[in-house]
Amino acid sequence: MAILEEPIKEVVELSNQIDGELAPYKGEMKDVVNPATGKVIARVPISTKEEHDRAVEAAKAAFPDWRRTPPVARARCLFRLKELMEENFEELSRIQTMEHGKTIDESRGETRRGIENVEVATGIPTLMMGTNLEDIASGIDEYLIRQPLGVFGIIGPYNFPFMVPLWFAPYAVATGNCIILKPSSEDPLSQAKIAELAEEAGIPPGVWNIVHGGRTVVSAMLDHPDIKGICFVGSTPVGKDVVYKRCGETAKRVISQAGAKNFAVVMPDADLEKTIATCMTSFYGNTGQRCLANANLVMVGEGLTKQDFDAFYKKVVDMFVAVASGIKMGYGLDEAVQMGPMRDKSKKDTILGYIEKGIKEGATLRLDGRKFSLVGDYLDTCFVGPTVFEDVTLDMSIAQEEIFGPVAMMMKAGSLDEAIEMIHSNRFGNAASIFTGSGKWAREFQYRVECGNIGVNVGIAAPMAFFPFSGMKDSFFGTLHGQGAESVRFFTESKVVIQRWF
Ligand code: NAD
Repeated sequence: MAILEEPIKEVVELSNQIDGELAPYKGEMKDVVNPATGKVIARVPISTKEEHDRAVEAAKAAFPDWRRTPPVARARCLFRLKELMEENFEELSRIQTMEHGKTIDESRGETRRGIENVEVATGIPTLMMGTNLEDIASGIDEYLIRQPLGVFGIIGPYNFPFMVPLWFAPYAVATGNCIILKPSSEDPLSQAKIAELAEEAGIPPGVWNIVHGGRTVVSAMLDHPDIKGICFVGSTPVGKDVVYKRCGETAKRVISQAGAKNFAVVMPDADLEKTIATCMTSFYGNTGQRCLANANLVMVGEGLTKQDFDAFYKKVVDMFVAVASGIKMGYGLDEAVQMGPMRDKSKKDTILGYIEKGIKEGATLRLDGRKFSLVGDYLDTCFVGPTVFEDVTLDMSIAQEEIFGPVAMMMKAGSLDEAIEMIHSNRFGNAASIFTGSGKWAREFQYRVECGNIGVNVGIAAPMAFFPFSGMKDSFFGTLHGQGAESVRFFTESKVVIQRWF
């Protein structure tokens, strides 16, 4: 049990980063607590509307020069930012483990995925190119150019504090816009560090601003007439009823990526050892606090007799429980640890509530996450162990609602058709996976399932930075998505010019 050196040694007093300056905040501050150790590691401003509006003024003032900076020069800043992120890779990763609780390997993976978005955005001189056509009529040419719009607001969730804002920020800045980024107030440290690196990389003051806080800052963003668009990632009630609704009323562009309840389907011909190994990451990785996490595991009896189907279901559940019960829990800075705590006690309490609900609804609790041991001597305040419910049916709330923790529901479907119907009965449409050796079943699944991200023998179907991060139904509100070329389109306005010379 060796704990890696902690990069945060004393309580960090965070400031908003506005116009290239760290402005010590005089108002309300909130503690950021390391959920594994229970220690306060930072204090974060809960900013006012006035503080937010000051950042918008700075961003507006920076915009004219930044948009005139040639795309190739803006890309150079992002190349430097990427290099600085690589140099600080391990520190950035350890900060995420301290602020969120995830294991160091999960944090390293998150850092890598975040950097990949900066890498893709360095291609902006090509990604942002327009098109043209000569002689649309005799002697007349027409061309399309893409232009930045001004100031954008970016609002992050707590579960991927480093990576998620990077689905948007590098593209917004590369296209010549300026940003106001509000990290989750639960784990704001890694975003504060990126903003420092962005400045060091030569991104001018006022282009990349951080305003910490909660719903007051979000409301101020949604209402501000000079904010042209919003990128939000978080829960469905906020993403749909607050962000998407208000952006419609104030005519802002919006990407609003929201909650999830993801199904994984196991066909009778699946490679069970590999499937179960994959499921450990997809169900319990990030302690289940992932919008792409699998939650409902559906064993499918297509072509099997009842007896064989029962034996198949039992075998998968037994294997799943056996491996899940061996997952090592503790402080994520211990490299031997495989699962960290929930982000805070209230989130643990939500999971405990769902365990109670599942029992009341008649599901069988096969693995009880309320009983666990930890690697090392830590408070059990935020920890919950891997949990498995058997005999789960679709009408149960544990099968329908987003639990967002390490709880797996074992279910049955007689056929692939029935499994797809089960997926479609759910309000969310973020992700779904199929485990099979059959190309026919896999194609049928990816063709018909109404979810934005599909995995074939892959549990976490996370799109790479050069693909859009998709979503459907109550998991996504908007038209274009974060990441890659779609992000570039979101952050630019198409202008069409028709030209002739007399
Ligand atoms: P959340 O909705 O509580 O908070 C998200 C952001 O909105 C935070 O910055 C928070 O400060 C702000 N906020 C919270 N309540 C608000 C309110 N009433 N008004 C205005 N702003 C408010 O979400 P969370 O708990 O931070 O994140 C977890 C959720 O995010 C889960 O539902 C998860 O599925 C979802 N998520 C979705 C994706 C995706 O791509 N679809 C990715 C990651 C997380």
